[in-house]
Amino acid sequence: MRLEDNVVNQILGPEQPKFKIWSSAGLMLTYWCPSRCACCYVFAGPDAGREESEMSVELALTCWRGVRELAGQRGKVHITGGEAFGNYERLKTILQVACEEQLGGLEKIETNAYWCTNDKLVHRRLAELKEFGLTRLQVSTDVYHQEYIPLERVERAVRIAREVLGETGIQVRWRDFLAEPVLVANMSGSQRAAAFSAALAKRRERLLGRATDELVNLFPLIIRYVWQGFT
Ligand code: SF4
Repeated sequence: MRLEDNVVNQILGPEQPKFKIWSSAGLMLTYWCPSRCACCYVFAGPDAGREESEMSVELALTCWRGVRELAGQRGKVHITGGEAFGNYERLKTILQVACEEQLGGLEKIETNAYWCTNDKLVHRRLAELKEFGLTRLQVSTDVYHQEYIPLERVERAVRIAREVLGETGIQVRWRDFLAEPVLVANMSGSQRAAAFSAALAKRRERLLGRATDELVNLFPLIIRYVWQGFT
């Protein structure tokens, strides 16, 4: 994509500075989440949803339209939170209107699968959203998320998303964890810290939000963990 393709840049003179191409946006519908993951970079949680911080259907669609107007067919949006499925009717309405307007560009919806409590419900919701343009569901699963979300819900989400959306319609973040999960909910404090340190040594996290409170102090342990790997 060229800078000139941006619709704002098209009206600027050759000497004027150009806007960066902005072709992707995450629509963060809410800060509410049933979990309080230690890695959460936005401090989402059960008490975090505030009326003034909720993204309305209209604001979500305005942002979505804006991305498509600015970046054309290359414009992509993904929908996230907090937990985007916390208010399912809002989520469905956003996709429904976007579908009616033929906005296009929906990349994926992210979820922690907390709502995947039975097959029928998951099947119905994914089929509905597919009708309105959903092609990919991203399911979060790692040592931090599974402190709060039963693993069986993640497994159900993955299985049914594969049935409804196809093999390319499910993105598991992370597959290696799902294959060999480490569940810390019933561990002691020191065991939990060691499990988090091992996860951090394996994969980097954005140290923002709650992660600055809960993970930064583990770094000495990470160094120890990595060091043990050399000896
Ligand atoms: S599931 Fe996601 S949004 Fe919710 S607390 Fe965990 S990292 Fe944050």
